[in-house]
Amino acid sequence: MSAICTHLDSIEVTGLPAEIAGCVDCLAIGSTWVHLRMCETCGHVGCCDQSPNRHARAHFHATSHPIVRSAEPGEDWSWCFVDEVAFVLAGT
Ligand SMILES: [Zn+2]
Ligand SMILES: [Zn+2]
Ligand SMILES: [Zn+2]
Repeated sequence: MSAICTHLDSIEVTGLPAEIAGCVDCLAIGSTWVHLRMCETCGHVGCCDQSPNRHARAHFHATSHPIVRSAEPGEDWSWCFVDEVAFVLAGT
C-alpha cells in the first residue's frame, strides 16, 4: 500500500468485533480508559496513550504486534508503534 509502514504483513485482523466491552486489561484490574485501540495482529483491545494504563502500547511491548487501529465509532485509522505513523488501510 505505502512505504510509510513496513509491517503491513503483520495485519491479520482489521474488522472490529461486533461488541467491545472495553479495554480487556483495564476491565481485569477495574481501571478506566479514554479511547480504545484494537491490535490488528491478534484482535486484542487495549486503551490509548491518553489512558492511565496505556494497555495498547503495553500490548505492543509485550507481544511486538506493531499495528493497532482505532476502536472508536467512525474512526478507521491505524497506527504503527514501530514507525510511529498513522494511516488508513484501503478497503476496510
Ligand atoms: Zn510499521
Ligand atoms: Zn487499559
Ligand atoms: Zn496483538
